[in-house]
Amino acid sequence: MTERPKTERPRFVTPKGRPPARRKAVAPGADMFVGVRPPAGPKTAYYDPACTLCPRLAEFLTETHHVHPDYFARPVPSFGAATSKILIVGLAPGMHGANRTGRPFTGDYAGVLLYETLHELGLATAPESVSADDGLQLRNARITNAVKCVPPENKPLPDEIRQCNAYLKAELQTLKSIRVIFALGRIAHDGVLVALGLKRSKFAFGHGAEHALDDGRVLVDSYHCSRYNTSTRVLTPEMFKKVMARTCELAGL
Ligand code: URA
Repeated sequence: MTERPKTERPRFVTPKGRPPARRKAVAPGADMFVGVRPPAGPKTAYYDPACTLCPRLAEFLTETHHVHPDYFARPVPSFGAATSKILIVGLAPGMHGANRTGRPFTGDYAGVLLYETLHELGLATAPESVSADDGLQLRNARITNAVKCVPPENKPLPDEIRQCNAYLKAELQTLKSIRVIFALGRIAHDGVLVALGLKRSKFAFGHGAEHALDDGRVLVDSYHCSRYNTSTRVLTPEMFKKVMARTCELAGL
């Protein structure tokens, strides 16, 4: 008898390499977040720590929480003062980064260049963001994500991006002090345009592109500071610093 190859596709690997514990089905209406987890922020128009509007993402968070009970594993709130002049918009929390620590771009590779550059330009009090309670503070900058929940394989679906856009829209409407929106990657760029009700065809994404918006704000684009982009040098530290320094200049900092 010929042996058939095994088509094993574990969705999760526990830190010790053991297969994940089987999880119990969550009854409709039950609190999907059971267990001890770091506190989340309060519900606002632009952030709901208990949001389950995207069924696939809500289910994925529940699974993540069962496999990694110590992970934040809920929608990740924005980080930085509401009175900031710069709003940095990323894509979505990384599984073992923001989804683990509860702070955007914190605890995984994607945040390395971002926080280093923020620190170099005086926008962060430390060059490395390790955990939500490491004491790092942002100065005049705030970081959010176009999608607040970790998506499977780092890929949110178009419907999920659309659904979550309501939070970005509310954030942009609420935070009156924002002068410059710094979009990390095309999905963030498109998300900002949709949130502001602007035509995508009028504002082409490009690294270093500056878009004057009708309300006086400026949208600045950058390639995403992902591990892939930085290790392939699609985005170099020099390129990133230049576009972020320009963002500071446009924000009057
Ligand atoms: N972590 C985030 O919070 N956002 C990203 O876009 C990537 C990693």
